[in-house]
Amino acid sequence: MKKKRRQTCCYCGRRTILAKDHVLAKCFLPNEQKYRRDPILVPSCNECNQNKSKIEQITAVYFQFGHGDYASEHMLKNRVPKMLRKNKKLADAISMGLHKRWAKHSSGLVLPELVLEFPHETLLIFRKWFEYVVRGLHRHELKRRVPLEHTIYFMNPLERDEVTIPFREWVRSQASHKTGSLANKEFHYEFAVNHKERLTMWVVLFKSIEVVGVTSPRKKNFKGGLHWL
Ligand SMILES: [Zn+2]
Repeated sequence: MKKKRRQTCCYCGRRTILAKDHVLAKCFLPNEQKYRRDPILVPSCNECNQNKSKIEQITAVYFQFGHGDYASEHMLKNRVPKMLRKNKKLADAISMGLHKRWAKHSSGLVLPELVLEFPHETLLIFRKWFEYVVRGLHRHELKRRVPLEHTIYFMNPLERDEVTIPFREWVRSQASHKTGSLANKEFHYEFAVNHKERLTMWVVLFKSIEVVGVTSPRKKNFKGGLHWL
C-alpha cells in the first residue's frame, strides 16, 4: 500500500495525514451533475473536516431561504425537510423564526411576505462557515494557507451596503483582482492580494448573502480570532 504523505491542514495548520475537503460542501446544492462539476478540494485534517461539516448541516438549511432560484426551491422541497427531521433543534429554530410581515415593495405596494429571523448565535455560525470558505479559497487560489499569525476580519453582512459596495469596487480596482465561481455559478467569489500590507481581500456571494473580509496580520495586543468590523 502506498504510504500517505503528511500535509498541512489548510484550516488549522496541523501537519497530519489529510482528507480532502470540498470548500463548498455537496449538501448546499441539489444532487445534479451541473452543480458538482469542478469542485474545489483542499487538504483538511479529520477534525476540521468534521467541525466544518457540523456547521454546514445548519448553514445549508438556512441559506436556502430568501432565494427564489431553482436550486433553493428544489432544496427546500426535497432535501431541507429530510435535514430538519434529523435535527429537531434546528427544525424548532426555523419554525420559531418564520413569520409573515407586511413589507413595502419597490413599486410602492404593501404586501405580505415571509421572513426568517434567526438568533445572534446563528449569525456566528454563518461567520464561522465563511471563515472556513475563505481559508479554503485562499489555499486553492494562492497555493498556501492563511498564515497562522494572520486573522480574518469580516464585515457584518446585515449592515453591509455602505461598506460592502465601496469595498467590492476597491477589490475590483486592484491589479491582482481575480474571480471564480462554483456549482453552476451559484457560488461566486472575488479577491485581490496586497503584498505590501500582507493582506488578501475577499468578496464571497452565495445565495442571498454577500460577505466581505480581509485576511491580515494581527495587530499588536490584539487577541486573534474572528471579528465583524
Ligand atoms: Zn485542521
